Amino acid sequence: MDLADLISLRKDLHAHPEVKFEEFRTADRVAEILSSFGYRPSRGLAKTGVIASLHGKKPGPSILFRADMDALPIEERGDHAHISRHVGRMHACGHDGHTTMLLGAAAVLALDPPECGTVHFVFQPGEEGGAGAKVMLDEGLLEQFPADRVFGMHNWPGLPIGAMATRAGAIMAGGWRFLITITGQGSHAAQPHLGRDALTIGAAFVQEAQLLISRRSDPMEPAVLSICTFHSGTTDNILPETATLRGTIRSLDVQELEALKRGMTRLAEGLAHTHEVTIAIEFYQPYPVTVNTTDEMALALSAMRSAVGAQGTVISNMKPSMASEDFGFMLQKRPGTFVMLGNGSSAPLHSPDYDFDDTIIPQGIAYWVALAHACLRTNKDTEL
Ligand SMILES: [Zn+2]
Ligand SMILES: [Zn+2]
Repeated sequence: MDLADLISLRKDLHAHPEVKFEEFRTADRVAEILSSFGYRPSRGLAKTGVIASLHGKKPGPSILFRADMDALPIEERGDHAHISRHVGRMHACGHDGHTTMLLGAAAVLALDPPECGTVHFVFQPGEEGGAGAKVMLDEGLLEQFPADRVFGMHNWPGLPIGAMATRAGAIMAGGWRFLITITGQGSHAAQPHLGRDALTIGAAFVQEAQLLISRRSDPMEPAVLSICTFHSGTTDNILPETATLRGTIRSLDVQELEALKRGMTRLAEGLAHTHEVTIAIEFYQPYPVTVNTTDEMALALSAMRSAVGAQGTVISNMKPSMASEDFGFMLQKRPGTFVMLGNGSSAPLHSPDYDFDDTIIPQGIAYWVALAHACLRTNKDTEL
């Protein structure tokens, strides 16, 4: 599979985005391509997961490389030829590129396996809000495919093409999603005193919640509280009885997240009491902080330097991101490292204008290949 084939695969995946746990076509393509390289892919973990294993020339330690496969519920904007063929779905996080690069690495390593040990190539569903990594772990990923170390990679808009970056310790935030349901009493728009208007109370919640960040959380501990949906009302002369709000909290510190949850609960109780309504908050889908470990970061840095070459840049102390990553679940189970690959000046992740830059495919593949060889050498220094 040459670079032109990989680019056309990436564009094909981009044109056919599938959201969490519905990656059926994507998984079929991944499995078919792995089989064409001589692998015997295993399927079915987390519904649409695909895993292939490569054995080195001798027994040794095992490592796990993970790429995510899912797209997002966003309407793509633009007029390029590989634009999404599906209304309301697009690859706005570059997982089409991640899948392509790991397949490219599987192709290269099949022809030039590491000196020892095993590489598990994991194509994971449901990263976007589905905690697909956790689902795979819960269904026995590490029991069926034992790995001593785990590695993940994400493309990174804003980081120049040719650069790679990572950091020691926490690199991406942990977080929770939440659903707030306000139940009041519907009434005529001209007689607000006869009802309990859920909409204005919801609006107050949106504003007040920001004080939990600006006045209750330590300015030295970054934290984000974002309310992302607000649904209420049916027409222009009825005050609505209910309002629902959804959003997320993120922090690099677990204690901070717990403090924010307590603050939101207090705010809900206070507003409910003041306005005589009920406000329920449900917190769900916790993502852990993604934390890199020292030895694995050193291995990743050596592979990054090899992948970027003489002209490229390797940043070893990038600013952490307040975005979350379900690869954090894998890093809770095994030591490993998550790294970023520059996607240049593209639109940001999760933007309707975003696109993965195909020129970085060779670099991503070079990183995976160099990392496999660095981790699975018979040299005593790198053995576990
Ligand atoms: Zn994303
Ligand atoms: Zn992503």
